[in-house]
Amino acid sequence: MENGTGTTPARDPGTSAGEPGRRALVIGAGIGGLTAAAGLAARGWHVTVLERSPTLEPVGAAISLAPNGQRALDRVGVGDAVRDLAAWQGSGGLRAPDGRWLARTSSEEAGERYGDNLVLLHRSTLIDLLRARLPEDAVRVDAAAEVTDPGAADDPRRPARVRTATGELTADLVVAADGIGSATRRLLFPDHPGPEYAGFTTWRIMVPAPAEPFAPHETWGRGALWGSHPLHDGTVYAYAAAAVPEGGHAEDERVELLRRFGDWHHPVPALLAAAAPEGVLRHDVRHMRRPLPAHHRGRVALLGDAAHAMTPSLGQGGNQAIEDGVVLAHHLAPGTPPGPGLAAYSADRLPRTSAVVARAAKAGALTLLRPALAVRARDALVATVSRLGPDLVLRSFAGITDWR
Ligand code: FAD
Repeated sequence: MENGTGTTPARDPGTSAGEPGRRALVIGAGIGGLTAAAGLAARGWHVTVLERSPTLEPVGAAISLAPNGQRALDRVGVGDAVRDLAAWQGSGGLRAPDGRWLARTSSEEAGERYGDNLVLLHRSTLIDLLRARLPEDAVRVDAAAEVTDPGAADDPRRPARVRTATGELTADLVVAADGIGSATRRLLFPDHPGPEYAGFTTWRIMVPAPAEPFAPHETWGRGALWGSHPLHDGTVYAYAAAAVPEGGHAEDERVELLRRFGDWHHPVPALLAAAAPEGVLRHDVRHMRRPLPAHHRGRVALLGDAAHAMTPSLGQGGNQAIEDGVVLAHHLAPGTPPGPGLAAYSADRLPRTSAVVARAAKAGALTLLRPALAVRARDALVATVSRLGPDLVLRSFAGITDWR
């Protein structure tokens, strides 16, 4: 039976479907889980995705995909569909709250340097594109899942075991893409402290484009930042962040945003005027400063935020989850013991994602500096370096967005 989202509701799963040696279970139908599922299915695995939510509606409005994420998406056949949604033309860059440009860049420079531009799109569009790469019955919603035994990668008699509300499943491979609060991570690595508060909170809104045009920008203030980006369909995705203690939510987050950002340059006040109070998303940011010892154990691979939650300061969490998914599928041939492939996956991904987590934390600290003197020095440095070399913004992504 199909529901309205094109997914299959949970039913008694019995044992996993598919030939022994080819049965893969993916826990979590977020960006990372669906990318891994699409990659594994294309390699011949029989994939079942278990998602605890009743629909695949993602939280979080829009997402930016950098050239590295787009190239990774090419491997699962959706890179060009994403590139078609690019809305950024002309210039953009970093600004100060009074509107001064600190550093400028352009879509042409981005294209020249990295082969692609940044693309911002609705999260639901990305989820739909990935979902469409899977067989109709591959995704089960309302299907919370828990790994009870990670199995032994080199022993065919020891598959992994996963419990759902309707029964136990066995699998040759489990991909745990269960997000930042991952229960699988806690099971596999009980000594790891898990994510910790990164020192700032974020807000996100989606609104219609204002009448007066603007160039995409990120604006750095004192312990606060704002970003505004037009999307392909005429809406604008805006986000904000502020260095505040954890857990302080306002009664009306739109009023809170007006208080903090209402006197910043155009288009910030216009976007806030168009926002509905109930449309403002707020999330405290948590990240995993200490890397895990590995991204797998037994027959279970961890990926995305479950493995390496990072601050959104480089816009890379989703991009890295996508890279994880395609690298995992690359290393894992169905019908062979998964041990060597899982070890190769960890060896590939652990150093890269640890470096990006650390770089994102540094970027977050720089963008959300508070002391007035330090902020003046930062802005002066950014403006000077930018005058000497025009693509400072793009250069700051070297080594991340040029991944192949
Ligand atoms: P998730 O998207 O969290 O998906 C996990 C899924 O697992 C969920 O659907 C959940 O319901 C399901 N699940 C959990 N437990 C179970 C269970 N027991 N059984 C079954 N299902 C389960 N990244 C970018 O690349 N670009 C950006 O512009 C960007 N902006 C961001 C802005 C903000 C403010 C924040 C906070 C993050 C941003 N990120 C961005 C990061 C990005 O959102 C995440 O890194 C990405 O969504 C992680 O994907 P995931 O698939 O690992 O996890």
